[in-house]
Amino acid sequence: MKDYVGRFAPSPTGALHLGSLYTAIAGFLDAKSNNGSWLIRIEDIDETRAVPDAAQNIIKTLAIHGLHSDSKIIHQSHRKDRYQQVLERLFKKNALFYCKCSRKQLVEYSHYSGRCRELSLPSEGNAIRLLIEQSSLPGFFDGIQGNIAPQPTEDKNVFDFIVKRRDQFFSYLFSCVIDDIDQKVTHIIRGADILDSTPKQLLLFKHLEASAPKFFHLPLLINENGQKLSKQNLSPAISEATARDNILDVLTLLNQPTPPQNITINQTLDFAISHWNINKIPMRRNLTVDF
Ligand SMILES: [Zn+2]
Repeated sequence: MKDYVGRFAPSPTGALHLGSLYTAIAGFLDAKSNNGSWLIRIEDIDETRAVPDAAQNIIKTLAIHGLHSDSKIIHQSHRKDRYQQVLERLFKKNALFYCKCSRKQLVEYSHYSGRCRELSLPSEGNAIRLLIEQSSLPGFFDGIQGNIAPQPTEDKNVFDFIVKRRDQFFSYLFSCVIDDIDQKVTHIIRGADILDSTPKQLLLFKHLEASAPKFFHLPLLINENGQKLSKQNLSPAISEATARDNILDVLTLLNQPTPPQNITINQTLDFAISHWNINKIPMRRNLTVDF
């Protein structure tokens, strides 16, 4: 086993956009510059949002940018039995409870008090949450953002995070922890939009007696209107015809040295690997993109 295992875990909800390519390249370069392996994992656990062929298209677009998974690509939608097995293990530890609150109700109770915790509700028609005491939430050191303390809040709902939704889909926050444990991932490079959920995920690693990976949260790419670059706000798909230029744009965003002109995509990546310095990435939550 290698000492460094990194991963890129896109959701197949549309074509790859610049924000995803930026996350993929940062993870790839950090893995390769540490002689590590880099995995692609398809996070299609929310099958209501998955778009047909999107996973294949994302894998193809990554390949055109010279980014290939070092091991077999796994799909979360094929791993439900495994997630269920872990769920049962957590139930035995009394770490989970059923919750009947609808999203609308949760918005209405501005001070949700974890009211379903004590109700011993039946499984039928209810979501499953991980019980989290605020005092138990760990802080952590982020490789880009520095020391992160859990955000204090009165709202327990913020903490008791959903493991399995009432429509029976496992949550992303839960399933990706199980995958990271099973794939022996040691380094996670992802967008800062998930930074505040990381202490909860760390608690899940602890519940499962697994050592947590190191986390690196990249500044989130936003447009001039302050919106995250995402498929939801129709961020344009990146063009495969301009793959090398796309990589150069990403290297600029990551504050890395500019490779020489007139070299191939693989030579560009090799240059970027040998010059990679993660400490040059700006220590901030957001980065405005104007191209
Ligand atoms: Zn509830």
